[in-house]
Amino acid sequence: MSYNQKIKEIVRLVRESKKTLALTGAGISTESGIPDYRSPGTGLWEKHDPAKTASLSALRKDPARFYSVNLNRWIAFNHAKPNAAHYALTQLEKMGLLTGVITQNIDSLHVRSGAARVWEVHGHLRTCHCMECRESYSFDYLVQNFKSGDNPPRCAKCKGVLRPDVVLFEDRMNEDFYQATQVISGCQLMLVAGSSLTVYPVAGLPGVAKQIVIINRTPTPYDEEAAVVVHENTGQAFQDIMAEMSKGF
Ligand SMILES: [Zn+2]
Repeated sequence: MSYNQKIKEIVRLVRESKKTLALTGAGISTESGIPDYRSPGTGLWEKHDPAKTASLSALRKDPARFYSVNLNRWIAFNHAKPNAAHYALTQLEKMGLLTGVITQNIDSLHVRSGAARVWEVHGHLRTCHCMECRESYSFDYLVQNFKSGDNPPRCAKCKGVLRPDVVLFEDRMNEDFYQATQVISGCQLMLVAGSSLTVYPVAGLPGVAKQIVIINRTPTPYDEEAAVVVHENTGQAFQDIMAEMSKGF
C-alpha cells in the first residue's frame, strides 16, 4: 500500500468504527519540542535514564538531587505547545469519531489542545502533592519553591517533601490507567500514535482493540497484526488524515 492509500484506509476505518480510541506516546510530542528519551542515537536515554533518575526510590533517597536532575526538563514540558497531531485528535473527538485519548505523556498537550476525554496513564505536571500529609498544590507552587532556593520543595503545612502527580518508575499505576482499561472495552479501532508500545502495562492495551492503526516513526511489536502501519512523523500523518477526512463530506 502506498502512503496515500494508507491514509485513505485509515480514514475509512475511522469512519466505519463505532468506538475508536487513540493511544499516544512520546513520539506525538517530539514536534512540540519535547525529546523522546527512547529514540536511539539521541544519547538522552543514556544520560537521563528515567528508570534511574525519575524513580520513586531516587526521590526517597535524595529528593534534592531528584529535583536538580528532573525539574528543568519538566518545566520545559509545561511551556510546550500542542502540534498538528494533538489538534487533529481533538478535532476527531469533536466530530464524534473518537471516544478519547489514552496517553503515556505527562506533558498535558492533549488537554491543552482542547481534548475533553484524556486518560493520562503516567500522570501529568499540573499538580503535585505532599508525600506526608497528601495536601495538593499546583505544580507552579512546587516550581516557585524550587526557584526560590527550596530544594527539595516542601509542603507549607507539614514540611513534607512535595512530589509531582506523575507515575514514577516503581510507582503503582494511577486511577486514569484503571479507567483506561475500562473504557477500552468494546474498542473497535485503536489509533496508536507516537508510541513504540514497549512500556508495560500500557503496551498491552492495543491487544484489546479489534483493529489497530499504528503511526510511529519506528517499528512496534504490533506492526504485524495492525490493519495499517505508517512509519512517519505523527504531525504530517495527521495533517494528511484530516485533509482526506475533509474531502468526503
Ligand atoms: Zn504536608
